Amino acid sequence: MSLPSTEQLISWRRELHQNPELSNHEFATSERISSWLQQSEIRLLPLGLKTGVVAEIGHGEPLIALRADIDALPINETSERPWKSQQPGVMHACGHDIHTSVMLGVAHHLKQQENSLPGRVRILFQPAEETFNGARQLIDAGALDGVQAIFGMHNAPDLPLGELRTRGGALYANVDGFTIRLQGKGAHAARPQEGIDTIVIGSQIVTALQALPARMFSSLESVVLSVTRFTAGNTWNVLPQQLELEGTVRTHNDAIRTAIPDKIRTLIQGIASGYGAEATLEWIAGPPALINTPRWAEFALQLAQESGYRTRVASPQMGGEDFAFYLHHVPGTFVSIGSASPYGLHHPAFDPDEGIIAPAVNYFSQLAPRALALVSHRSETGAQQ
Ligand SMILES: [Zn+2]
Ligand SMILES: [Zn+2]
Repeated sequence: MSLPSTEQLISWRRELHQNPELSNHEFATSERISSWLQQSEIRLLPLGLKTGVVAEIGHGEPLIALRADIDALPINETSERPWKSQQPGVMHACGHDIHTSVMLGVAHHLKQQENSLPGRVRILFQPAEETFNGARQLIDAGALDGVQAIFGMHNAPDLPLGELRTRGGALYANVDGFTIRLQGKGAHAARPQEGIDTIVIGSQIVTALQALPARMFSSLESVVLSVTRFTAGNTWNVLPQQLELEGTVRTHNDAIRTAIPDKIRTLIQGIASGYGAEATLEWIAGPPALINTPRWAEFALQLAQESGYRTRVASPQMGGEDFAFYLHHVPGTFVSIGSASPYGLHHPAFDPDEGIIAPAVNYFSQLAPRALALVSHRSETGAQQ
């Protein structure tokens, strides 16, 4: 097969877009990706994955990796595009179909220059990014074994086409979740003195939690705490005995991340016990902050400029991205590339400009051999990566 044309890249993207699959259910998606790669005799690694595909191009050492995520979201698409989702209630609303078609294009480009590649490039088509467990599945299956640097991208609907941003250090946040359960005592709504009112206590807990980031941590640190669910009661004239709250905490600093659960626990138990209620906290640790390796972030920005992107140093974001797990094991960097959608990520009308795809294919096709050359040079000179 010759190099994929822009039309080919877009047709892959539209086929993926029409056939989205949820996290850990990307069976047909994985089959499509495998067969498109095999048409060009690109070798696939037999890692025994349930979903997801890992391809490799080139020979010998060193080895770097590129990653695309492949899963979709439980959202009903509202667009009227001819290539809109054919699966009711499932939509590529985060643009992972874009990322996948970019890395498919890169795989084909690298295959064409396989004999002159100064090492190997492994391409990870990763399942289950949205549920934050796909990267760990690939790591456990050995997809990172031998990898010396890793790179990935996310489309950025709020940036114009042709713009690329990244930064050394924290780009995305630690993403943690919590569930708070309150046990009070039910009562007739007309005789609250006979019960322990979980709704009043829960309301005070929500208010107190809002003050926690501002009053327990420096204002120079980024901490966001959002309560996203408040559930209690069944009817209008009964004070409910139980209440459940859910929410999320986003941070960049690991020491703060570690300190927060105890602070929340102390606060909610103090408030609850003042009223004779009991409060428990369940802490759900999500992906760590995405920390780009500064020298690879600089390299990615420099190369972007050379390949025609307008570049900016990114601001840190409070969102999460499970690419962070890879960066805990190997150095590398993650970049944001403008996709100019009028609606944001996870919106039912999200509609990225397909003009993002071809330049991104060129970019990563240049980045891979350059990164391989740099890794060899650094290991020859004994420099730290
Ligand atoms: Zn997403
Ligand atoms: Zn995403």
